[in-house]
Amino acid sequence: MIEMQDVWKTYPDGSHALKGITVKVNRNEFLYVVGPSGAGKSTFMKLIYREERPTKGSIFVNGFNLEKLKQRKIPYVRRNIGVIFQDYRLLPKLTAFENIAFAMEVIEAPKKIIKKRVTEVLELVKLKDKSGSLPSQLSGGEQQRVAIARAIVNNPTVIIADEPTGNLDPETSWGIMKLMEEINFRGTTIIMATHNKEIVNTIRKRVLAIENGQISRDQVRGEYGYED
Ligand code: ADP
Repeated sequence: MIEMQDVWKTYPDGSHALKGITVKVNRNEFLYVVGPSGAGKSTFMKLIYREERPTKGSIFVNGFNLEKLKQRKIPYVRRNIGVIFQDYRLLPKLTAFENIAFAMEVIEAPKKIIKKRVTEVLELVKLKDKSGSLPSQLSGGEQQRVAIARAIVNNPTVIIADEPTGNLDPETSWGIMKLMEEINFRGTTIIMATHNKEIVNTIRKRVLAIENGQISRDQVRGEYGYED
């Protein structure tokens, strides 16, 4: 479902972020990406949702080679990937409902279907009673749940989460993880970069460690493996 073959990424300033990554992530897997700061984790994730392009190598998502993608196929591949960030990235002037609906409006979904589906995902993230709130009126955990609802609203096959619990206290983080597991259980592949040792060592999943732009470890039901 996601495959990288000898992927290299050098930024224009000469930083070698990734140096020969080869990996396969199967449908419905839950993968943690761990490693020191600056190791290349974010770059790895950005290449999958096509925020960055590789300097060399091939990347396949759902059978499509991202580098050979016809222009008209790009929205189709993008729609199949939901992205979640550490800092939520909600639109500040839109309510929770509107933030989620916006992701469906850009793919031109019919109004009636938008209302039904947004209500459904708000229920899933347990925020139905906050649908009219602005991000500034929500706690960090609630904002992240809105961001998760937005990421899944178009039924993507893959969720890319870059340190989704990075700004949250431990208790709120566990709640977010429960939700991620639920989404995975319902059939979505999850790729999550994290520095959260507790979570990785408790909710055991496949662990891919990146160090200095290379894969240093790939374990089934792995462990965090660092002291920080
Ligand atoms: P991580 O997510 O593991 O902290 P990153 O993928 O953000 O690692 O960064 C990997 C390396 O690439 C670092 O040396 C970083 O400084 C460099 N880097 C990341 N983004 C850019 C960029 N846009 N321009 C130049 N260098 C970058």
